[in-house]
Amino acid sequence: MLELKKISKKYGRVTALKSVNITLGSGIYALLGPNGSGKSTMMNIIAGILPPSDGEVLYNGQTIRSLGLMYREKIGYMPQYPGMYPSFTARDFLLYMSELKGLRRGNESEVDYILRRVELDDCADRKISALSGGMKQRLSLAQAVLGSPEIIILDEPTAGLDPKQRIAVRNFISEIAVDRTVLWATHIVPDIEGIARDVVLLKQGEVMDIAAPEKLIKKMNGRVWSVHIEHYAAEDFRRKYRICSTVPEADGLSLRLLSEVQPCEGAAPLAPTLEDYYLYIFGDIL
Ligand code: ADP
Ligand code: MG
Repeated sequence: MLELKKISKKYGRVTALKSVNITLGSGIYALLGPNGSGKSTMMNIIAGILPPSDGEVLYNGQTIRSLGLMYREKIGYMPQYPGMYPSFTARDFLLYMSELKGLRRGNESEVDYILRRVELDDCADRKISALSGGMKQRLSLAQAVLGSPEIIILDEPTAGLDPKQRIAVRNFISEIAVDRTVLWATHIVPDIEGIARDVVLLKQGEVMDIAAPEKLIKKMNGRVWSVHIEHYAAEDFRRKYRICSTVPEADGLSLRLLSEVQPCEGAAPLAPTLEDYYLYIFGDIL
């Protein structure tokens, strides 16, 4: 179990995290927030590589500071901007990382298994410098899960992947998340829809909410509307409401929008989604 107790972080005059209190058990936690909300800062602090300005991170009741290396061994971390040795081959890099992690020598079978799972087995002997962005991304994911660490921290793991690779990575992460804590930072709602047990909403360094996705979606009941308007009214609606989507139609526009009450006559309520909730929370800073 991981606990963040009153974690704050300041970079000079910029406050990146403001007294964050959360408790994480096992399963996938989505850390959802727009760019600059403090996701990477929080992940670096949980990974134990960035000291907080204030507060403590506890692992099973003990501060990670006091656990030191014992804690670091339990962490698999995929940073947002991975720095990997360009002259290593993909396979050698993973073998090297597994030695650094103190894993048993000769666990080549695990390395080969993971290479297959992230669909890099065909380029296992290629130099990292010759891999595409998406391939490097998957190699970085592979090193994070090597050795089945108890806590897996993934900072925007699907950035730069195409839809098929995204789905493959999602499935892979869901599978390895059993009996483990996975923290997955993203600003892409569909990435974590359907697989996160809880969503931690981070806005300008503050945790706005932490709850199961279904619970967050429920909060939007009665707040999402379908409205049919003529073109000339569009500007007025954009000024008054947060618009989730606009679909052109023969005689005007069909809008999906957020409103606390029925916005106009003829507006019909819609079943909310997690994306609606994202817009509800973050719409003012998009
Ligand atoms: P996210 O990962 O959600 O995009 P970050 O944790 O990277 O957010 O950044 C949170 C805030 O802290 C931003 O305002 C960012 O500019 C600032 N920040 C992050 N890292 C540094 C740093 N090393 N020095 C100064 N400011 C930083
Ligand atoms: Mg980030």
